[in-house]
Amino acid sequence: MKPDLKSLTQDEVARLLIKQGHPAYRSTQVIQWTYERAAESFDAMSNLSLPLRQWLAAEFDLWTVKELREQHSTDTTEKFLWQLRDGQLVETVLIPATPGLTSRSDRHTVCVSTQVGCAYGCKFCASGLNGFRRNLTTGEIVDQVLAIVRMGRTAGIRVGDAPPKPDPEFRVQNIVVMGMGEPLANYDNLMKALKIINAPWGLNIGSRKITVSTCGLPDQIKKLATEPLQIRLAVSLHGTNDKIRDQIMPVNRKHPVGELVEACEYYAKTKGRMMTFEYILIEGVNDDLNLADQLSAMARRLHAKVNLIPYNPVEGLRWQRPSMDRCHAFAARVKSRGVAATLRIEKGGDIGAACGQLRLQTMRKTSPDVPAES
Ligand code: SAH
Repeated sequence: MKPDLKSLTQDEVARLLIKQGHPAYRSTQVIQWTYERAAESFDAMSNLSLPLRQWLAAEFDLWTVKELREQHSTDTTEKFLWQLRDGQLVETVLIPATPGLTSRSDRHTVCVSTQVGCAYGCKFCASGLNGFRRNLTTGEIVDQVLAIVRMGRTAGIRVGDAPPKPDPEFRVQNIVVMGMGEPLANYDNLMKALKIINAPWGLNIGSRKITVSTCGLPDQIKKLATEPLQIRLAVSLHGTNDKIRDQIMPVNRKHPVGELVEACEYYAKTKGRMMTFEYILIEGVNDDLNLADQLSAMARRLHAKVNLIPYNPVEGLRWQRPSMDRCHAFAARVKSRGVAATLRIEKGGDIGAACGQLRLQTMRKTSPDVPAES
């Protein structure tokens, strides 16, 4: 197998080129074509000589995700379903920061996947319904962002009902690692991808604009605390005690709340940075106002922000979102305890933008053995 160019750092590419007798500046050119200009093939690297392009094509793989489907939400969130080399499907979501505006300077957030399927089987989530297939490679994580950049620049990204408009200046400002899969279970590939996404020679996205979300793997949270990269951490808490968390998140049976909190304390102490607790509100499961008090106490202790997300129902699953009144009351209660909390009105709800839903719908259409219920 040829090395995948987008799984390599600039230094690694330079070393391979120098080893074969090419001058080091060639690697700068190749890297610029790959990231700054989002080239899809070595052929497109027009200021390189034909023999060099042929040599590169023989030595490296410059593979791109293939678009299978896209969905547009009325709030301008867009979701893309990609096919990978081995036929597996992953999703990427593009979320404009200012929905409804057509300005070209809109900030864009890209939500990337890290695994095909998921092994953690949270009961409310579509990603794990069909089990875990494999980790994504570094290049497959990086190319999800590049694919959006290519599309924005050449075909155009749709904003609302307007037809897609190409934008040569199109940029992605934020990355959230909240797509399919458990990012911290694919630690090494993810960290390398984030280095490439962050690097000035790569996608040049500021580390503080990158958020990694985890279902709560204590050892990996501690490991992340020692990384030099200043990315943001979000923890999918969804329950403040073992009784609730055990019911909806099987990972809690292995790593109960106490262990998770200890890892979060370590992270907060080591990094000295605020983390975010994500808390999906599910009717009758975790939306009692007493739980808002427990959540506030935990958040205060860990100096964490709270992101409340009304549950986005998944076809075939029994969980429901509470009434908006209940969601607002829960948020008000958390805030009244002095915690920075936001109630996120889920974007892309009408296109099934919650993890894994588009892939699941597509798989159900094409293969009847995909379970409709868990
Ligand atoms: N595995 C990681 C990242 C992927 S999920 C994690 O668990 O954090 C990103 C976020 O979406 C998580 O907080 C997850 O619990 C949440 N989520 C999954 N399905 C959802 C749904 N149907 N509605 C709302 N949020 C959902």
